[in-house]
Amino acid sequence: MKKILALLICIGAFALAFFLFSPPAKTNGTIEVIAEATTNQKMIDDTKKTATFFKQFLTEDMHIELTRDVKILICPTRESYTTVLQREIHLPKDNAIRQAKLSAGISNDKFHMVALNGAAEKMKTPQNSTSAIAHELFHQVQAQLSNDKNDKALYWLKEGTADFIGATVAEKSGYQSREQWKLDTINALRTAPSYASASEIMHIDLEEWTNLMEQDQSPYQMSDLMVCYLVSQQSNDKSYASIANYFRLVDQLDDGDKAFEQAFGLTVNQFLVNFQRWFLDTMNKPAQIEIIRKPEITPEVATDVEHSAALARQFFQNKWNSDLKASQRIVLTESKDAYTAAIAKEFNLSAEAATQKSKSSVWWGNNSTTVLDMSALSTKHQIIFATATIMMKRFELQVAPQKAMSTLCWLTNGSADVIAAHTVEMAGIYTLENYKASWLSSLRKTTVVPNLAELKTEQAWEDATTKYSISTISNLSALATASLIEKYGFESVYAWLEATKEYGDAEKAFQAVYGISANQFATDFKKSLTRQLK
Ligand SMILES: [Zn+2]
Repeated sequence: MKKILALLICIGAFALAFFLFSPPAKTNGTIEVIAEATTNQKMIDDTKKTATFFKQFLTEDMHIELTRDVKILICPTRESYTTVLQREIHLPKDNAIRQAKLSAGISNDKFHMVALNGAAEKMKTPQNSTSAIAHELFHQVQAQLSNDKNDKALYWLKEGTADFIGATVAEKSGYQSREQWKLDTINALRTAPSYASASEIMHIDLEEWTNLMEQDQSPYQMSDLMVCYLVSQQSNDKSYASIANYFRLVDQLDDGDKAFEQAFGLTVNQFLVNFQRWFLDTMNKPAQIEIIRKPEITPEVATDVEHSAALARQFFQNKWNSDLKASQRIVLTESKDAYTAAIAKEFNLSAEAATQKSKSSVWWGNNSTTVLDMSALSTKHQIIFATATIMMKRFELQVAPQKAMSTLCWLTNGSADVIAAHTVEMAGIYTLENYKASWLSSLRKTTVVPNLAELKTEQAWEDATTKYSISTISNLSALATASLIEKYGFESVYAWLEATKEYGDAEKAFQAVYGISANQFATDFKKSLTRQLK
């Protein structure tokens, strides 16, 4: 026993001597980018560019010098990311696998290291990867400022400020504005089936945070809005200084709550009360539709778009006792070229990708912004139809996730068309019956009419556009949906959307709501359509 004790003291003394006599390694804030095998050169170049830009932003805007050397490890696949989390950051295997499923990157304070998951969805577009890299690098800054006592800081504030700085760096790099990012975040929570509240995440640890992520409870989005609100309450020139100060105070006071009070001038509880009030107010506001038109677009056209959006929402309210929850920006362009340029700008696409998309579309959008090519819509009823289609597509995604709906594409697309036709009827131009007659007459002119069972998945729909034509499959889907609505009412479409959310599968939801399988319906419909086409 004595021998062991002596040995331990020996090791202790040796370690102490080593600590006392080895000079601290000199660091000067170098960010080194290291790529795992098979990483493509573009990702390496982009990461280096973002790292340089981040340091510049830190110096010029935040007045902070990075003093620690940081390594960024780029992992091109989820497997290599999992391996790096184990090998370099020493996460146990289970934990590495769990984190690799959820994260686009991880920052480790102890090893001054950032690992990036090139396979994550967030790393797929330049805008998102820029903000993701800046996010992870900002965690290193937090660790530097707090003298590695970052674990004492409020977890939501660490993540929220890292996202906030990420969005700021993305904006300064020429991507989407931070204001738009904030609106997208509000929209994401407005349309989420459920999410963690601010008080739930106020004092949370990594384990609880990870659980919330796995349960799709959007803790990042909530902390992002908490930070946006917090920053909006600081005077403009002080917001970066207060954020930096918070992490310095975490070191000095050794307490995340006390540091909050000193840095931001109110207790966490006071903040929570103020934030909740603002948040409820924001969530309860009706969605705003903002129409953005170029001078070449007449005010009348913009009014038609606005009117159609209002009519579609009136339909959601009256028939389904619901409404569009996410605010929308609708950008109207005057020519194919202007349309291509606008989708490149709004969705950060390369000129080539934008040209590809614009060739076969009249509108393109994400959940908060839609760009329309008005040169392809020459009449009032076309404008109203297209706008209402967009509104219905947004509404569908608000009720059920895309993945769940993409098992029955003909009904997803068909219901958007039928509701659009109904909206034109509400506007007093054509009736739904007029549309049905025109869909039927155009199908009469085609030689081969497909079966609905061929139009289930997104891939199948895509294939059918070349095998048949987009108008044939759209008209068929619209007619089939109209026949369902005729028999079961508009209510059944909403019931189907709700069931799709519940079952996570549009086809199963169909069976539950309509009482027959989608395949059986396809067969029955084919028979009745053949009779009508004669
Ligand atoms: Zn983070």
